[in-house]
Amino acid sequence: MRLRHITGCEEKINNSPLVVKDASFAEGNELKMEFGMGKGDFIIQNALKFPNNFFIGVEKFATVVLKALEKINGMDIPNLRFMCEDVATLEEIIKPHSVKTIYLNFSDPWPKKKHAKRRLTSESFLKIYEKLLEESGEIEFKTDNVDLFNYSLESFKDNGWQVLEFTYDLHNNAKMNEGNIMTEYERKFSQNGNKICKLIAKK
Ligand code: SAH
Repeated sequence: MRLRHITGCEEKINNSPLVVKDASFAEGNELKMEFGMGKGDFIIQNALKFPNNFFIGVEKFATVVLKALEKINGMDIPNLRFMCEDVATLEEIIKPHSVKTIYLNFSDPWPKKKHAKRRLTSESFLKIYEKLLEESGEIEFKTDNVDLFNYSLESFKDNGWQVLEFTYDLHNNAKMNEGNIMTEYERKFSQNGNKICKLIAKK
């Protein structure tokens, strides 16, 4: 998600106490993170629904983080923070084995083969997630892009992860859809008639 540049955007983000440089605010608590949160709909809803868990939404574009900040403007959500970082840098920022759940929602598909390494479910990213996740930690991945989904199923398996559950039609899978929190893209794509794929994986 790319938005037109907004003057003073970086400064606003750097000055916000809600945008953090590390995950220390959650220390000692269950931490759940979304990588590539976009405007933050999903992670905000999660934080409101589960006040006893701690949530951090990560997004690489400052203009997009600013939209998330504007969304919660005035709301007091003490268990939620944002990070403006590239997922590739997180292993230097987050303490190893401190994350309970990683959510990847509608990650950029990078359909060309020569760009496969940029997919957030490619080998180098899975190595990062392995370092960040607690021993019992899990990844929950949703997309409407069947090619990316099939690639990801293989990538998890090839890299020694267990795929615990998966579906090519989340909204018609009563078990996996229970308690599902829709993301902004999920709402948009399913309104267009696209089916939503989901998998849950564990190392
Ligand atoms: N999760 C949201 C947005 C999906 S779009 C939803 O489901 O509605 C994917 C988002 O991931 C974009 O905003 C993009 O900027 C962000 N993104 C892609 N690669 C990233 C990376 N390496 N690090 C951080 N954010 C990334």
